[in-house]
Amino acid sequence: MSDSSSNPCLDCGACCMSFRVSFYWAEALQLPEGLSEQLTPHLACMAGTNASSPRCAALGRGTAGPMACAVYDSRPSPCREVEIGDDKCTRARARHGLAPLALL
Ligand code: SF4
Ligand code: SF4
Repeated sequence: MSDSSSNPCLDCGACCMSFRVSFYWAEALQLPEGLSEQLTPHLACMAGTNASSPRCAALGRGTAGPMACAVYDSRPSPCREVEIGDDKCTRARARHGLAPLALL
């Protein structure tokens, strides 16, 4: 990630406002207090994403751009797997009225 002109994610955040971001509970240990929620004995999720209108509590709290992630370097595995222009990105952007992006 550099600046918002070269990384569309920094002005988007749609995938952080569309899905429940859940992961194996131990991944939450690398996150600041209060940014994750325990779902089951084995699963946790990013705070704010287990809602009917999900919005990750870390979204927009980074310094790299308007929609920058506050925990980018320690973000959990589902966040690392989504890629600009993939199916999840496209579905999330459509949900927020944004045009699809080309796969990089
Ligand atoms: S991966 Fe796609 S939906 Fe997610 S922030 Fe980046 S451009 Fe937006
Ligand atoms: S942790 Fe960061 S990348 Fe993952 S959903 Fe939240 S704001 Fe988005």
